[in-house]
Amino acid sequence: MNFNDKIVVITGGTSGIGKTTAIEFAKRGATVIALTVDCQEIAKKAIEEIGNGAEYLNCDVSKSDQVKDAIDYIVGKYGRIDCAFNNAGIGPDGVRMPYESLTEISEKTWDLVVDVDMKGVFLCLKYELLQIQERGYGAIVNTASIGGYKMAPGFAAYGPAKAGVLALTEMAAIENAKFGIRVNAICSGPTSGTELTKNTLSSDPKQEEILMEHVIPMKKFATPNEVSNAVLWLCSDYSTHTTGQKIFIDGGMHIA
Ligand code: NAD
Repeated sequence: MNFNDKIVVITGGTSGIGKTTAIEFAKRGATVIALTVDCQEIAKKAIEEIGNGAEYLNCDVSKSDQVKDAIDYIVGKYGRIDCAFNNAGIGPDGVRMPYESLTEISEKTWDLVVDVDMKGVFLCLKYELLQIQERGYGAIVNTASIGGYKMAPGFAAYGPAKAGVLALTEMAAIENAKFGIRVNAICSGPTSGTELTKNTLSSDPKQEEILMEHVIPMKKFATPNEVSNAVLWLCSDYSTHTTGQKIFIDGGMHIA
């Protein structure tokens, strides 16, 4: 797959799945612009690792004015957006895994998770699509989760927020097919080595063993590269008739 001269926007490109995907795009010629909330030091290090002239913009995806400004800046500087990976996200309470039910979760936690994980995707889609529609070509991938396809007890806000991402993906795909824009989603299962996974597992040491033995048919976590492979394919010219899809990278969890 070749992304020479492509302008690729990635939200959350400073760690985990986003950073790996940014590196893989850059290796294949893309110019990557990452939108995250991390401190400048983390962002600076990520940019060096991504390479190929990657740029970092400070942007909280849950804030409309920040997303609009970031997209306007990118189009002003680079002329267009070819591909977008709306990937930024936080765990069930923003930091770790408290396994809160609908009756336990606070309004504050609900708002935090839904604002970043679902509204953030809506805002990015809105401003990306407004730009890409003018050109008649573009591919967008949203990060949902197996948690948005199969509800699991304790994921009171995360599950519904990620289900919302799947719905937003279908809405964006159906509304934008006529503009030549493809919009798809990825549904990862537990993925190794990301900050979100580390925080999640640190709250319950037995969690990894339970997932391997009883939940994931292939008995292993996804690697960030297994996830990025799907993202690159969905953004490439190898998937030109694929839109509105959800691709599971979950070792079979969705059929178990
Ligand atoms: P991560 O914590 O390593 O990366 C999250 C990224 O999102 C970071 O770069 C962070 O700076 C950014 N971010 C967080 N809040 C933001 C905000 N308000 N605005 C802009 N950027 C923000 O975690 P990850 O596992 O790589 O997660 C990436 C995506 O994958 C998330 O949407 C997550 O829900 C999803 N996901 C992860 C797993 C998993 O097991 N790790 C499984 C399924 C889905």
